[in-house]
Amino acid sequence: MVNENVRVQRTKIIRKALAKPYGTKNVSVTAGKGTAASWVDVHVFIDRPEDCICRNGGDPWRCDVCGCKLREETDHIRRMAYLAIRAAGISFGQYLMDDGYNTMSDQVLFRVHFKDSK
Ligand SMILES: [Zn+2]
Repeated sequence: MVNENVRVQRTKIIRKALAKPYGTKNVSVTAGKGTAASWVDVHVFIDRPEDCICRNGGDPWRCDVCGCKLREETDHIRRMAYLAIRAAGISFGQYLMDDGYNTMSDQVLFRVHFKDSK
């Protein structure tokens, strides 16, 4: 069972940490429900780079310009979220990865999207 306070606290803390650099309306942080209650989904919406070369179709992760930007911003939001969570003295839930090495991973997903892609 997930502590309800921690579950709510995680989303609030991350939302607050990301609202300043990205703007409240561009940040979506949700806690899972039911069997996924300990999961946190973090979505941030950013502007597409001006010099994008995949604008007219194609996978932005495979575009040299967009892929670079998406990876950079994903690292950034991950770093900011972890700093805020640690500063609050809490942590993410963990799960056993299905990788055959018994690796434990945190129950959090970070996704960066372009505002114009939806
Ligand atoms: Zn592109």
